[in-house]
Amino acid sequence: MKKQSVVFVSFWGRRWRLAAPISWLGNANGALLILNPVPPPGRVFVTHLLPISISPSGVCAFNSQTLPSGGRPVSQTGEFLSFSAIKQTGTDGAFLVLNGQKFAKCANAKQAKTLASIIENVRAAKVSKRETLVRSWIVKQFDARAASRALSEAEESIGVIRWACSFFFVFMFVGIPVLVMLYGLEQLIIPLAVGILALAVQIAILFFSAHRKLYRADSQERFESLVKMIVCPPVSLRAADLLTRNLLSGYSPIVVANVLAGAGGQQFARDFVRDLQHPLKHEVTDEKAAETISWMTAAQLKACLEHVERDGRVKVKSLLQPSEREGESVSYCPRCGVQFVDGAGDECPDCPGVGLVAFSENEKEVTLSQTSG
Ligand SMILES: [Zn+2]
Repeated sequence: MKKQSVVFVSFWGRRWRLAAPISWLGNANGALLILNPVPPPGRVFVTHLLPISISPSGVCAFNSQTLPSGGRPVSQTGEFLSFSAIKQTGTDGAFLVLNGQKFAKCANAKQAKTLASIIENVRAAKVSKRETLVRSWIVKQFDARAASRALSEAEESIGVIRWACSFFFVFMFVGIPVLVMLYGLEQLIIPLAVGILALAVQIAILFFSAHRKLYRADSQERFESLVKMIVCPPVSLRAADLLTRNLLSGYSPIVVANVLAGAGGQQFARDFVRDLQHPLKHEVTDEKAAETISWMTAAQLKACLEHVERDGRVKVKSLLQPSEREGESVSYCPRCGVQFVDGAGDECPDCPGVGLVAFSENEKEVTLSQTSG
């Protein structure tokens, strides 16, 4: 599951970076946070690849995409169900449940619910409407304008909480040690405890109202977090992160990278597009399952390229063309871009199922004339 997630963290300043999944993100334990290097609050966003493929004909428990940070999770079974065979949809925690059986493990309960509801919508629709429904669901994941809008709308309510969390952090780790050094712990223990609780309650209240605005449907998470913050005040240091974490999780990682990282997300965008274009081979042999997998990959590639085109910061052409030929290379991998000096026609050793492409004779001449001139 973690192999399918991308975490965006911004440290002080405006630079974003992509980070590998951090263990404490999925964990509401305040103690773990304290042990970890702490980014400023409210600067953590997580987005996930989908654990399944959906096509107008059915659902397959497999997504051929991979992220540069990791291969495919073993939990994807490749099981296929046609829409006519799906009688009932639901969730069980992070699991998507179809016909009463756990069908796929999702990144979290929110993703599972989203998938269950789109599958239910498509299933209930007329056969002729299904393709439109699935396509528009995919296109929505690549709507960068909607993602930016969600981000700026949330900024308003999260801003105050970010300050409150930062203040609380300084109070806990600088204020309290200094006060204790000056006046001794014995006299201060009760006033400090009251102060900590008051701050935590204040943050919890702000969190609760912002959460209701941003995630109206997730009332369970809202109440649980509220209780945790009051019972264990250090949890409230993470209030802003809890609000930003899933804010953009419904959007494709490439969109989140563009919205947050801007031009800095270029390499990520390139890898993302090339992976859709040249997916790694898979072991799913059932014909209908394989059809659904490649249908969704193609539909995602289309929506993805449309997004890149609209975004305009990177030219689609520059994403698709091979990088400049180095030295004696005769071929390259169209997926990872690594160049090779031996013959074309083989597979890339790093990308199973992706054949190497020869640099064309044409290009060779250009390169040669460039180097000699
Ligand atoms: Zn490769």
